[in-house]
Amino acid sequence: MEHLPTTETKTSETEKKKSIYSLQLHELKEWLQENGEKPFRAEQIFDWLYKKRETAFEDMSNLSKGLREKLATQFEITTLNTVIQQTSSDGTIKFLFELHDGYSIETVLMRHEYGNSVCVTTQVGCRIGCSFCASTLGGLKRHLEAGEIVAQVVKVQKALDESDERVSSVVIMGIGEPFDNYDNMMAFLKIVNHDKSLNIGARHITVSTSGIIPKIYKFADENMQINFAISLHAPNTELRTRLMPINKAYKLDDLMKAVRYYIDKTGRRISFEYGLFGGVNDSTEHAEELADLVKGLKCHVNLIPVNYVPERDYVRTPKEKIFAFEKTLKNRGINVTIRREQGHDIDAACGQLRAKERKEETR
Ligand code: SF4
Repeated sequence: MEHLPTTETKTSETEKKKSIYSLQLHELKEWLQENGEKPFRAEQIFDWLYKKRETAFEDMSNLSKGLREKLATQFEITTLNTVIQQTSSDGTIKFLFELHDGYSIETVLMRHEYGNSVCVTTQVGCRIGCSFCASTLGGLKRHLEAGEIVAQVVKVQKALDESDERVSSVVIMGIGEPFDNYDNMMAFLKIVNHDKSLNIGARHITVSTSGIIPKIYKFADENMQINFAISLHAPNTELRTRLMPINKAYKLDDLMKAVRYYIDKTGRRISFEYGLFGGVNDSTEHAEELADLVKGLKCHVNLIPVNYVPERDYVRTPKEKIFAFEKTLKNRGINVTIRREQGHDIDAACGQLRAKERKEETR
C-alpha cells in the first residue's frame, strides 16, 4: 500500500528547510545582509526563480559558489511532484501535486478569453466543513507555507512556458479557507504581485472566503486592490447554517456588516459566490430573498451551477431554473452572471481529484 503521512510520520517543520519562494524581496535582502552578502543579489536570485524559473541553486551561475552553498543550506526551491494531470476538452488542466511530506493538493489552470488563470490551494484539507465540499472530507491536515502556494503558480507557469503563454491571473479558491491561513496567504499575495517576481497585477488576483469575519475586517484594513469574494451560497441564516456550518460561529447578519465595512473602507466592489444546488437554494423565493439581502451594496453575484459531488447528496440545478434565478436577480437590479462551466469532463470541483486519488487523506 502506498505510504501516506500520519501526524507522527510527517516531516517536522524544523527538519524541513524553508521554501525560498516564501520570502518577499525585502526579506531576502535582509537575509543576504545578515549573511555577509550584497542586498542587490536578491534581485538576481528573484530573476533566477521567477523569470528563468530555475530550480537548482547550483545553476544560478552569476552568484558566487559560496552564496549558492549558503542558499542551498538554508532554503529549498519547492518543486511540486505532479502525481496526476488531467486535461479537459476546453483546455482546463487540473493538477494533483504531492508535497514534501507526502500530502497532496490540487491546482487548476483555467483558460479564458482574457488569459490564463490559476486556482491555488492554501491548505491541505479544510476545517470549515461546508456540506457540499469534497475538500473538507478528512478535515484540515496542515496549512501551506507561502512558498508552497507560490510554487503552484511557478509550476503552472513552467508548464505554460512550453507554449510561450503566461499566467495572467490567480484565484485563491482551491482547497482550504485562505483566511484560516491568513499570514501565509498575505505573503503569497505580496510575492506573486511583485514586479520582480511573477508580476501578477493586484486587479488580476481574487481571494475568496467562507466568512471568517475578523479576518474580513483585517483584510479591509490592508487596503489592497485585490478582488474579494464571499462564498455566500444561501440567502438566509437557517439555510446557510445547513450548507455552511461556519454560519453558526459567524452569523449572516454579522457577515453582511463586515461586507459593508469592506466596501466602505476600500471603495471596491465585492463578489458573492452563490452555488446553485438542485432543490436546496435555487427557487424563485430564494432569488428574491438573495436580492433583498444584497440590494444597495456595491456587489456582483456570481451564480455557480454546482457539479454533482459523489461524496455528497447535492444534484445540479436544471438549466432553465438557473436562467430563471438569474432573471429574478436581474429584474431586481442586481449585477449577476452565471459562471461558465469549465473542465466538466474532468474532476473539476474543488477537492474531487484529491478525494478520489488520495482516499486515505480524506477520511
Ligand atoms: S468550500 Fe472552501 S471553505 Fe468550504 S469546506 Fe470547501 S475548501 Fe473549505
